[in-house]
Amino acid sequence: MGNEYVQNVSATGDGQSTGAFDPTPRTTVRRLAVRGKYDRETVYKILDEALICHVGFVDEGHPFVIPTIHARLGDTLYFHGSNASRLLKRLCDGTQVCITATLLDGLVLARSGFHHSMNYRSVVVLGQGSEVVDRDAKLAALEAVSEHVIPKRWDYVRPVNENELNATRVAAVAISEASAKIRTGPPKDDDEDYVLPVWAGVIPMALAPGTPIPDPRLIDGIAIPGHVLNFKTTSPQISQKGAD
Ligand SMILES: Cc1cc2nc3c(=O)[nH]c(=O)nc-3n(C[C@H](O)[C@H](O)[C@H](O)COP(=O)(O)OP(=O)(O)OC[C@H]3O[C@@H](n4cnc5c(N)ncnc54)[C@H](O)[C@@H]3O)c2cc1C
Repeated sequence: MGNEYVQNVSATGDGQSTGAFDPTPRTTVRRLAVRGKYDRETVYKILDEALICHVGFVDEGHPFVIPTIHARLGDTLYFHGSNASRLLKRLCDGTQVCITATLLDGLVLARSGFHHSMNYRSVVVLGQGSEVVDRDAKLAALEAVSEHVIPKRWDYVRPVNENELNATRVAAVAISEASAKIRTGPPKDDDEDYVLPVWAGVIPMALAPGTPIPDPRLIDGIAIPGHVLNFKTTSPQISQKGAD
């Protein structure tokens, strides 16, 4: 589908466009449409906070949905993997892909089983990839993937060598057709159920790091660096109050 749907967009200096995504026939949220969002800030915030995503594609007539790491630079998502990876082959050969990222913000407990739900922020990106072959662009993409997961790690570790670079494939997918969907707030029960003596509410959920465990083979005298000690996942930005 390419860029035919990208309208109302102006590029900023860092390669990131402004303006909302125009919903297309295939990215228009139909089920509970009020939860659909198309503004770039919302979509990018979810993609940036999600440590992983899932890439869906059809290979030899069968759909596959493969979890992987991504990073966003401007209006592009980057992926990396082994030369032998089918996922990378499909991302590099222009196969149509569907990329989803999901953040779970809460378990929504209603007064009936039927109305139980989850609070979430999720994104769907449709597009097709291409291979990043330029050495500098490839390195920049690999750095972006590393920084996306754990900022400041790239400069701390041994630099990537030529063998590793040659063994790694990098793919780029332009973010031009995208939607977000967000649920927030308490359960929405049937009116007659609000008098029931059943506890209802939300259990907030967030991804949180534990205490770092040193590698048993760590040489003596290595202090835990600040980027490890202070590592935080982004906490949920969206209030758990007020349903939509
Ligand atoms: C953590 C989590 C749990 C969920 N649990 C359930 C469940 O148990 N049952 C259930 O029916 N649904 C659940 N959903 C919602 C689900 O993702 C779909 O939105 C919903 O099932 C409607 O699907 P559909 O194909 O009919 O959507 P449609 O509205 O027909 O989808 C049209 C287009 O809207 C966009 N879209 C749809 N859903 C999303 C989304 N979640 N994020 C971003 N864009 C989207 C896509 O571009 C899609 O192609 C859950 C979502 C999340 C994130």
